[in-house]
Amino acid sequence: MLHIPKDRLVYQMDKDNPPVATASSGDTLRFVTCDCFTDTIHTEKDLVTEIDFSRINPATGPVYIEGAQAGDVLAVTIQRILPGPQGVMVAAPEFGLLGDKVTETETGVFPIEKDTLNLFGATLPLTKMIGVIGTAPAGEPVETGTPGAHGGNMDCTLIKEGATLYLPVEVPGALLALGDLHAAMGDGEISVSGVEMAGEVEVVVELIKNTTLPTPAVQTEDTFAVLYSDDTMEKASYHASERMVRYLQDTAGLSFNEAYMLLSAAGRLSVCQIVDPQVTMRMELPISVLEAVRKKNL
Ligand code: CA
Ligand code: CA
Repeated sequence: MLHIPKDRLVYQMDKDNPPVATASSGDTLRFVTCDCFTDTIHTEKDLVTEIDFSRINPATGPVYIEGAQAGDVLAVTIQRILPGPQGVMVAAPEFGLLGDKVTETETGVFPIEKDTLNLFGATLPLTKMIGVIGTAPAGEPVETGTPGAHGGNMDCTLIKEGATLYLPVEVPGALLALGDLHAAMGDGEISVSGVEMAGEVEVVVELIKNTTLPTPAVQTEDTFAVLYSDDTMEKASYHASERMVRYLQDTAGLSFNEAYMLLSAAGRLSVCQIVDPQVTMRMELPISVLEAVRKKNL
């Protein structure tokens, strides 16, 4: 297994980032990651008073995938997410959706005990996920705090153990990097942080040639979702939905109107996050529905 240590960090997804390792399709990689604050918060006395999106959410990597070329799709299957000892959260004036209402800067530190977290008296199950994961864009570098067509800071709760994430390859070698693990996060991530943690992630990478898979997209045990990031929820919703319609036309034999009606009946338009420099929405469809329409129409 290829081991990628966390002293190999980037703050931008950039085609010019030198790769820290090379992997082949089918390889298992283990990334060691910092939390989104580069492991600088240790106690509740460590306060975060401003967020500079160019110095937050470091990603470990990038890894060069042999044979990856622009136009391919990189499938990343998340085998395991190993949490660090604690999660941290922050609240401060101007942070997140209700930042105008926040009057006091606070840090919360929450020990991770086996499979649970205790938040203010509630025992929450760990819902471990990856906040930042992406390839390098062909154009200008994108800060790791910003999501986009290349992936990045999508903060999607479906990017979890057992899921396969499909990312575009835009440059030779793809240049996969990831970080910003969460022990738990609610859809929307409204206060600007999930329960941020350091940790380790084991993934298997696979290169897919000649495919109509939309990217980024994620498949879990029971759901397929197309993700889209844009400057408003409306625009991100439009494009996530339009891409899912096109995918159903291409792979399930449905007409535009049939796919449109199916998503209106059985799809789920959901928010990933609305607090990063671009917001991320997803259109989900149950795998059982997808398989049934394929079986009937193809
Ligand atoms: Ca994030
Ligand atoms: Ca985060």
